[in-house]
Amino acid sequence: MNPEICVYAGSFDPVTSGHLDIIRRGAAVFPKLIVAVLRNPAKKGTFSVEERLSMLARSCSDIPNVVFDSFDGLLVDYMRKVDAGVILRGLRAVSDFENEFQMAQLNRQMNPQVETFFLMTSPEHAYLSSSAVREIAMFGGDVSGFVPAAVLDEVTQKLRK
Ligand code: ADP
Repeated sequence: MNPEICVYAGSFDPVTSGHLDIIRRGAAVFPKLIVAVLRNPAKKGTFSVEERLSMLARSCSDIPNVVFDSFDGLLVDYMRKVDAGVILRGLRAVSDFENEFQMAQLNRQMNPQVETFFLMTSPEHAYLSSSAVREIAMFGGDVSGFVPAAVLDEVTQKLRK
């Protein structure tokens, strides 16, 4: 497993300014960052996986060492497939901790060669989530402060009723 390859996995339905902050900061530390969208058959999502990947790519066009991919199944299996040694996660509030703690322990048990690294959210994104963005946009609210400028139109148009 290569410790210079880091995977930031999630739903990104859609990408938010909080995700982008973690991507930028992660890409400044690890030589290669793979942003991986989870294909979850149990959760269809609002945006298709292809739409999410395209929005991520547009948001990160100025970051050279980031690539995009999608996966299904266990993250530890995907890590093996791409030879990545580090999982990157973002932590917002204490409420994220328990879930992340459980996942990190289980992942480490399944593959001790993979380490999970956490970045604390920047305070301005502490309350930001994809679900909050979807809800605000659905009711006609302005989400320009919450999503990257490159995806604002797509998010607004898709969610406006
Ligand atoms: P998941 O479905 O796995 O929660 P998300 O797309 O919501 O996927 O989030 C992926 C990762 O990004 C998680 O580690 C989550 O904690 C982190 N994250 C989400 N929103 C923020 C934010 N506003 N600030 C920092 N990290 C965040």
